[in-house]
Amino acid sequence: MAAPKLHGDDLELVARVEALLADPAQQHNPLHEPLAALLGHFRGQRERLERLVRISDGYHHVAREQRLTLVEQYDKQVRRLEKLVRISDRYQNSLRDLSLALRDAAMRDPLTGLGNRRFLMERLREESERTQRLGRGFAVAIMDVDHFKAVNDAYGHETGDQVLLAIAQAVEFGLRKYDHCGRWGGEEFLMLLPETPVEHAYTIVERIRLAIAEIADVGGVRVSLTASFGLAGHREGEGFSATVSRADQALYAAKAAGRNRVESA
Ligand code: GH3
Ligand code: MG
Ligand code: MG
Repeated sequence: MAAPKLHGDDLELVARVEALLADPAQQHNPLHEPLAALLGHFRGQRERLERLVRISDGYHHVAREQRLTLVEQYDKQVRRLEKLVRISDRYQNSLRDLSLALRDAAMRDPLTGLGNRRFLMERLREESERTQRLGRGFAVAIMDVDHFKAVNDAYGHETGDQVLLAIAQAVEFGLRKYDHCGRWGGEEFLMLLPETPVEHAYTIVERIRLAIAEIADVGGVRVSLTASFGLAGHREGEGFSATVSRADQALYAAKAAGRNRVESA
């Protein structure tokens, strides 16, 4: 608010009163003294009014400044919160990535890159539940490398590892993309073939057996490899461990019958 200006009429009146008071002819006029006092009083009142206006202006200024700093502080807090939210999002994302990586590592065999026994147990459980719901069945094959101890003995453990990797690749390559395979134990692998009748599974597994027999070179080392397979089709009403157990018995039968063959339960 600006200090009130003297109005045009007021200015003229003050100028006239000042002229009269300054006129020597009016010095002895009985009104001279009270008029001079009245003018002084008027000026005093004006000064007080102007001071009040100045104080009020200052007050408004301070209030506006305070309002501004409040808004600024609020904006700053909002920005800080947004930053915290971003940091927390990033933190949660990396935690999620980490837990996925840990989960993956816990399910994978580091040598062959295939799923491990835990992975296979999960797939078996899933497949068995799906079979109960939809009644579609599945086949399980367990494979054990023949005389693998002899491979280690002949070429050393490191080459033995490379042989296992080559065998794992042959197994994976021979399966369809919706089949599962993993390392069941040392030189044993398990294959899970969803919605596959045993006769069909037999053809697929037999193809893998031949592929393993064809591996002739592993990292420059000449090898001759064979593997035995036990195959079992899931039977209605049985738990997956019963199916796996029958595949295992068939594997023993394949070993007993001379190895390098597929036996069905
Ligand atoms: P069979 O035909 O009866 O199966 O004979 P085998 O020699 O394969 O059977 P056995 O169970 O006696 O030996 C398995 C061997 O596999 C012994 C073990 O040292 C080897 N083996 C198990 N896991 C690994 C591995 O990760 N790397 C290597 N290099 N060898 C392994
Ligand atoms: Mg074995
Ligand atoms: Mg073996």
